[in-house]
Amino acid sequence: MATGSPEGLDEVKGFINTVSLESDDPYTGPDRLPEWLEATGRLPGASPEQLSELRLFREALRKVLEANAGDGDAQAAWRALEPFGRGCCLKVEIRDSGPVLRAEGTGEGAVIGSLLAKAYEAVATGTWARLKACRKPSCRWAYYDRSKNGSGAWCSMAVCGNRMKAKRRRQKSRVSEP
Ligand SMILES: [Zn+2]
Repeated sequence: MATGSPEGLDEVKGFINTVSLESDDPYTGPDRLPEWLEATGRLPGASPEQLSELRLFREALRKVLEANAGDGDAQAAWRALEPFGRGCCLKVEIRDSGPVLRAEGTGEGAVIGSLLAKAYEAVATGTWARLKACRKPSCRWAYYDRSKNGSGAWCSMAVCGNRMKAKRRRQKSRVSEP
């Protein structure tokens, strides 16, 4: 893949980015989660209850991505995902290339399971830490940090990075004003 993130993480990123926090409420919608579930074939025609469970999971997972960007406590963020992990069932499938984790069942549990399986694989291969949520509080967009040393903090330096830096400069100059 030439752009974006490693394959499995592209799916996680796509899931996280089904809502724009700048305009929508992440827990009640409207958002693009139903369209994403439809387009990926993961859960077409999800019920309102399934959607609200998946939204809770999405925002809990976003907290881990925020911690990856250096914002918040990673341990607490992972712990909050525990109940979601308990609700899904994974099996090991042997392919030509080796074992992979596959979510069993149907419904929202299978969606959560397959996304957690992607996270598991990315943690194992060391790519997970680069999947981040933008540090700009009103943005929180998920992105894959391709910076050389993995120290990126914003989804886009051109958009959020410059805005945040300008804001900080304004705050600083205000503090130093007599
Ligand atoms: Zn951003």
